[in-house]
Amino acid sequence: MPELPEVETVRTILKSQIVGKTIKDVLIRYGKIIKNVTEQNFVTLLRNERLIDIGRKGKYLIFIFENVIMLSHLRMEGKYLLKSAEPYSKHEHIVFFFSDGIELRYHDTRKFGTMYLFETADPVRIMQLTPLNRVGLEPFDELLTPEYVTSRISKLNRSIKSLLLDQTIISGLGNIYADEVLFLSKIHPATNVKILSKENIKVLIENSRAVLSKAIAYGGTTVRSFKASDEVSGRFQNFLLVHTKDKCPVCNQVISKIRLSGRGTYFCENCQKRLDITNTP
Ligand SMILES: [Zn+2]
Repeated sequence: MPELPEVETVRTILKSQIVGKTIKDVLIRYGKIIKNVTEQNFVTLLRNERLIDIGRKGKYLIFIFENVIMLSHLRMEGKYLLKSAEPYSKHEHIVFFFSDGIELRYHDTRKFGTMYLFETADPVRIMQLTPLNRVGLEPFDELLTPEYVTSRISKLNRSIKSLLLDQTIISGLGNIYADEVLFLSKIHPATNVKILSKENIKVLIENSRAVLSKAIAYGGTTVRSFKASDEVSGRFQNFLLVHTKDKCPVCNQVISKIRLSGRGTYFCENCQKRLDITNTP
């Protein structure tokens, strides 16, 4: 699943390739990806629109046109391919035809990806609307402080791993990076958030920033079918410390694997302290 660093990599690549281009037409081959407007409106509103910029909030790509904004969430397997006049694969669901003959194709083997279209070009206004209003603060946001996190978790009874995966509180950490952050923070993934100290949370925020910065610098992590684009593969998988590893790089003990929040979770029982164990996954 593409996580924040992979989405940021996709954003950077697409921005260099398609900003400035004008959409001539849109072909919808699988309409359920479009969530908030009809297929007809999606096509009509995008026609003749010039792409001004591509932003991102959490794992949403924000395509800013002259008069409209399109959001795209890649979910499990979504990706964008640039092609021209080649036969369609059965996984290419939305095709954006630019006036210069280039086609941007949205490819998604699982069809879980989503797109939204808004009749405004104001990125600030978009932040207040569904779905972006449900996206929590990113680790890079100055507003993400130990106080903010504490205020959001005081009544929760859940594991720190599930909290880190909850995109409505902190956005951008997925399964791989959550494991890495907890390892660097020396915190057991099943620890109940209720008993975390402000110092624990401060360390978690700092390590979230460190892990995501490094992952973005290396173009994300290439796992299974995910590739940022045809040409670029992430290299952060070469720097993973605990996720999918056999031995702890610090103490050499065998890495444990459990399921938490339905996700395979890797950690070192020796290095990551069991502050508390919650029964709530
Ligand atoms: Zn260890």
